[in-house]
Amino acid sequence: MEIYIAYKFRLYPTDDQKRLINKTLGCKRFIYNYYLNYLKDNNSINRFDLHKDLPKLKEENEFLKEVDSTVLRSAVDDLSKAFNDYYDKRKGYPKFKSKFSKHSYRTSCVRGTYKEKEYSNIEVDLLTRNIKLPKLGKVKIRGYRNKDKIEGRILNATITKEITNKYYVSVVVVEDILVDKVTHTTIVGIDLGIKDLVVTSDGIKYSNPKVIMKFEKRLKRLQRKLSRQVKGSKNYLKTKEKIARLHAKIKNYRKHYLNNIANEIVNDHDIIVTEDLLVKDMFKDKKKAFNKSLSDACVSTFLSLMEWKCKIKGKIYYKINTYYPSSQICSHCGYKNSKLKDLSIREYDCPVCGSHNDRDINASLNILFEGLKLYYNLVSLV
Ligand SMILES: [Zn+2]
Repeated sequence: MEIYIAYKFRLYPTDDQKRLINKTLGCKRFIYNYYLNYLKDNNSINRFDLHKDLPKLKEENEFLKEVDSTVLRSAVDDLSKAFNDYYDKRKGYPKFKSKFSKHSYRTSCVRGTYKEKEYSNIEVDLLTRNIKLPKLGKVKIRGYRNKDKIEGRILNATITKEITNKYYVSVVVVEDILVDKVTHTTIVGIDLGIKDLVVTSDGIKYSNPKVIMKFEKRLKRLQRKLSRQVKGSKNYLKTKEKIARLHAKIKNYRKHYLNNIANEIVNDHDIIVTEDLLVKDMFKDKKKAFNKSLSDACVSTFLSLMEWKCKIKGKIYYKINTYYPSSQICSHCGYKNSKLKDLSIREYDCPVCGSHNDRDINASLNILFEGLKLYYNLVSLV
């Protein structure tokens, strides 16, 4: 099976390399904004017309010739994607790109042979901790200390400059992997929440790490501070940068933590069942809008990690319908208790069968049963 893997490294460019990266980002922004302005009055023009127009624009603006030309073409593609999103009503009208936001550019990997030697314009060397990139040459990197080489074929690299002035490179690789044949014997249901991030039908609860809660408190404080500051002032920008830094920190921490949980669960089970979480009780509470955005991000990261890990390890992964009332049904007798819509009830005795249920573990058991139904349907079809 062919899979795509993205490796993200912190990039340590020299001052000259930084200048070139910034110049490339500037040129990409220039192209994007130039054509956005142009399309305002000529909306019958499509992406191919713009690609044809690009050489002319380059002739008129010498500085565009100094940077990686694939990047300029990708600016046109980005713009046409933004317009498609707008026409399909997925997003608003494309906006001009400002100098003060996060920026990135993607460059494609080109391969060839020269004097019988294989050549590639993007190469990662994990032993000397360097990456070779078009126009930039060798740049220092950090990350993946546990690996000594990257397997597979490199497709492209995306260079990102964060608001915090840190640079990263994300390298996408295609790898051919052998998936083990698994005899499916064990099954687990998983409930996702805010207090406990992940609860399994084995009765294991993985709570939000204390460190993250501490970061989140700090984040709330900073956001309150920001709302009181004068927009655009020096202190305002300082606070904004602090917030961006903290966001990145939380994101990394959480990803690492979720990755460990996902590994544990996928290694121990053959069939994994979760909810397809988009609308859940906990997200409907408007007072928790702050928690919502955080847990949204967290849940979607976790679900995609699960999907991915199950795929490469040959396990079965089911997502069940969001509207299935997993937390209201007693997992012992099947009685549906609508009183349990009240989220503050964490534990209760079932009025019909009398069994004592923990809200989240009970929900994860129901999710497991739904998964079993899907599995038996699948088996009986064969
Ligand atoms: Zn019951």
